[in-house]
Amino acid sequence: MTGNLEPDDLFAMPGIKRPAPHRGFPEQEIFPQVAYQIVHDELLLDGVSRMNLATFCTTWVDDQARRLMNECLDKNIVDKDEYPQTAELEQRCVRMVADLWRSPDAERTLGTSTTGSSEAAMLGGLAAKFRWRKNGGKGVPNFVCGPVQVCWEKFARYFDVEIRQVPLRGDRLTMHPDDVAKHCDENTIMVVPTFGQTFTGLFEDVEGISKALDALQAKTGLDIPIHVDAASGGFLAPFCAPEIVWDFRLPRVKSINASGHKTGLAPLGAGWAIWRTAADLPQELIFNVDYLGGSMATFNLNFSRPGGQAITQYYDFIRLGRTGYRRVQAAIYAAGQHLAKGLTEVGPFELIHDADPRRGITAVSWRLSGRENFNLYDLSDRLRTRGWLIAAYPLPADRQDETIMRAVLRHGFTYDMADLLLADVKRSMKLLHAHPLKTSLMREDACGFTHNAQAAVPMPKPGKAKSTAGKAKS
Ligand SMILES: *Cc1c(COP(=O)(O)O)cnc(C)c1O
Repeated sequence: MTGNLEPDDLFAMPGIKRPAPHRGFPEQEIFPQVAYQIVHDELLLDGVSRMNLATFCTTWVDDQARRLMNECLDKNIVDKDEYPQTAELEQRCVRMVADLWRSPDAERTLGTSTTGSSEAAMLGGLAAKFRWRKNGGKGVPNFVCGPVQVCWEKFARYFDVEIRQVPLRGDRLTMHPDDVAKHCDENTIMVVPTFGQTFTGLFEDVEGISKALDALQAKTGLDIPIHVDAASGGFLAPFCAPEIVWDFRLPRVKSINASGHKTGLAPLGAGWAIWRTAADLPQELIFNVDYLGGSMATFNLNFSRPGGQAITQYYDFIRLGRTGYRRVQAAIYAAGQHLAKGLTEVGPFELIHDADPRRGITAVSWRLSGRENFNLYDLSDRLRTRGWLIAAYPLPADRQDETIMRAVLRHGFTYDMADLLLADVKRSMKLLHAHPLKTSLMREDACGFTHNAQAAVPMPKPGKAKSTAGKAKS
């Protein structure tokens, strides 16, 4: 030993010779370098985010975005008066997104950044509930939707609204416009089409659903608004499939949510909720806060919230513009199509979504087309040994008989990565053919992977709820 001298190697420092504190509030201090190293090393066990094709969220940002996030670490977006320029940049984003989604009054309509689509969806749902009540709605409010992301089941449960999910039928894996009207009544506060399903990546037919509701109104007088959950589609179709009419061009669409941190390309923690016009957001939801000697309308579930996400979203918008977004998203779609084509060549796979920008988001989904001695959970598990995280899960009601697999491709996913993945799929299948797994034993484990909220496992029915969201048993 060197007597009084401090050891100069981090890994010889005293703090690191003890296990990391696990439980109970730690008594002792340790040096920041040591604490950092402990935390950093714990995280080695996490998956590599860019190989996580189960997530929809941003896993690649440029250095300027990182710098802005760092510079804004201390900015609370709720302090409109203290950080007026942060508030201003958020408002500019609201106007830009309203314009992108064709609000008839993009300059003056209301909207807000949120922590993601979940918060934005709650706000859209609450606005619909308040409008319904103001129009004389009594009894138990309900909303009608297809196979939705779990945030809508949360909205239903947290805010006492009945969720009416239109069951899937036949080969159509999206809510069928013909099926919508029969689930609606005078207590229906909204219909929620998903513009970019989490299960398959497919767009639901917002225009068709809107027309079905027009017909319902002509017949019964019921005027039911639409809220579009465009979590992923909201920053894709406007650039890569502008001919799809899904947005405020449809007068029935009163509000839209999207995740800035998905295809909006912002870092994690950014979402948007936008109303068609200011009149579509009920006054009761608005709280005014001080702003440059006046006041500013806020309507969020959170109070304090980081400002960097909205600021960096503004950076993305002005950095890329429509042209840049089109280029970036088209490149991801192209890599997705390459992957889709490759999958049909390497395996007995039938594509459900092949990353066609007119049909859905930048994702590929598929099922096994023949009888094999392995299933998609086995394949998911094999791919995991190479670092690829790709979800396998059952379809929602009434098609739970079917297992599918989905790869969500994001900014930073290249042709090269698609080829590496395809080679691993091929290798995995060769192995699975040669050494069939005892599927029933593997099942529990493989299913655990779909617990990830992004795999959109149906929530358990209230009462039967476990602490983790629904275990995917097929
Ligand atoms: C991801 C997603 C959500 C939830 O969005 P977050 O930004 O993760 O809160 C809601 N709806 C759909 C369709 C999604 O894909």
